[in-house]
Amino acid sequence: MDAERLQFHEMGLDDRLLKAVADLGWSQPTLIQEKAIPLALEGKDLLARARTGSGKTAAYAIPVIQRILTSKQSVREQDVRALVLVPTKELGQQVQNMMRKLAAFCSRDVRVADISGKADLSAQRPILMEKPDVVVGTPSRVLAHLNAQNLVLHSTLEMLVVDEADLLFSFGFEADLKNLLCHLPKIYQSFLMSATFTEDVQALKELLLHNPVILKLQGSQLPGGSQLQQYSIKCEEEDKFLLIYTLLRLRLVQGKTLVFVGAVDRCYRLKLFLEQFSIPACVLNSELPVQSRCHIITQFNQGFYDYIIATDEQSLSAPAGAAQTSEGKGKRKATEKEAKSKDKEYGVSRGVDFQNVSNVINFDFPTTVDSYIHRVGRTARADNPGTALSFVSSTETALLTEVEEALMGDNADCVLKPYQFKMEEIEGFRYRCRDAMRSVTKQAVREARLKEIKQELLNSEKLKTYFEDNPRDLQLLRHDKDLHPAVVKPHLKNVPEYLVPETLRSVVNPLSARRKLRKEKQEGVAKPSFKKNVLGKNPLKSFRYTGGRNRKGKAGQS
Ligand code: AMP
Repeated sequence: MDAERLQFHEMGLDDRLLKAVADLGWSQPTLIQEKAIPLALEGKDLLARARTGSGKTAAYAIPVIQRILTSKQSVREQDVRALVLVPTKELGQQVQNMMRKLAAFCSRDVRVADISGKADLSAQRPILMEKPDVVVGTPSRVLAHLNAQNLVLHSTLEMLVVDEADLLFSFGFEADLKNLLCHLPKIYQSFLMSATFTEDVQALKELLLHNPVILKLQGSQLPGGSQLQQYSIKCEEEDKFLLIYTLLRLRLVQGKTLVFVGAVDRCYRLKLFLEQFSIPACVLNSELPVQSRCHIITQFNQGFYDYIIATDEQSLSAPAGAAQTSEGKGKRKATEKEAKSKDKEYGVSRGVDFQNVSNVINFDFPTTVDSYIHRVGRTARADNPGTALSFVSSTETALLTEVEEALMGDNADCVLKPYQFKMEEIEGFRYRCRDAMRSVTKQAVREARLKEIKQELLNSEKLKTYFEDNPRDLQLLRHDKDLHPAVVKPHLKNVPEYLVPETLRSVVNPLSARRKLRKEKQEGVAKPSFKKNVLGKNPLKSFRYTGGRNRKGKAGQS
């Protein structure tokens, strides 16, 4: 614990909040929390540059809950006092969860309702009629309820939070947001959280905030080098596949890993490629139903999957593919429009709370600095360590330079180091990689994409009611199953020992544990065991030199 840092118990917070923080296991505030909470409690408006993973949700949630608790000491009437605007349903759910955890010991006094979900307005009406203290929602959803008079804020609202403000604009919520402001009272406290300070965010600042304190925390873009290791490696298209195959197959990359690619088609290309080698991975794709996406993330967080392949919001502007290809060009315009509005509301990888991600791999280099920061910010969150590795082709070199310059200006600690990997040593794998790449044709990718959407639609719609009754069975539903539109060659599953680079033979075991055991049995190799001995003692720890007592009868004599 850093004694110099202001601690939670020194912030004048309600005991119930402090207990919740302790229960969450947070020993001290993150940098943004340390700065933002006291200012917010003083009643200041805040504009904070905060990335996902910095603890930004609690930075506003704690003062919001504290203020509600304080208000309730004098005013008994139940009203909506705080509104949190988010760009995506996933973030809405995440914010609700976090606020409910923080309000766990005062849940009667502070009720939180997330209305960003897909349910009908009329289905959400009863929730709003109860006037929850905090309402979380996307601008369009909140505006619809305001227009339907399910929600009235003009006399009761005390606090407004706009989370991931930069994304609200890129997802096209600008008009809704402006219309929504007409329904708010003249005076309220506002918090604007944004990963980047774009011109749009500046404009919103003028509109929403009064004499705000601006928190641009030093080095806040990404954690420092001791927590987050960033590497880059130059490799062209084919080498990218070769390298990822080697890293994953030989388990040179360990722990939960997010692999980012530039477009949805490439997600499937990579998934099918890895499938050839029996390496399962999930695709997180904005075309999939929101329940599926949330389920994928939940299961990933629970440790069901090691690898998720995702695109970031950049890819959302790419034309929507699966529906178009199946429906032909006639319907293309309508489908594009539909898909675009759908994409806008449901960002895939931003604002979604992945937990305990050990590595981020940029299989395709992000097209902007912001995107790099958002992708890489998925690892090394809170106080955990993390690694980011970017594959950079010659066409992507300029983007790498841009990112390096931007990070250098932010924090000298943040530069990308070259990843020391001798590509020539894995040359032996090239033939099998080419073989696998050949099987993953455009047609196979298209089929896989369509097949998965169909599968997931079925999962999410048909099984919804069943899973509501049998929530345990939801665990059995996996999203990393093989899609198989490409011919899978069983022999590619295994890696013959002679192909493993010599320098790596001591650190990797290309054989599966079962095969290795079988081989050892056949060869009669005695397997070293680190299991406890029969008496339950670890022989390495309990061993004592007896100086040959058994032989000579007296200890220490020789
Ligand atoms: P956020 O930036 O709000 O998305 O938070 C990222 C993660 O950090 C979440 O999983 C939080 O539970 C966690 N977190 C937030 N505040 C703290 C803290 N003070 N100490 C440790 N973890 C925290």
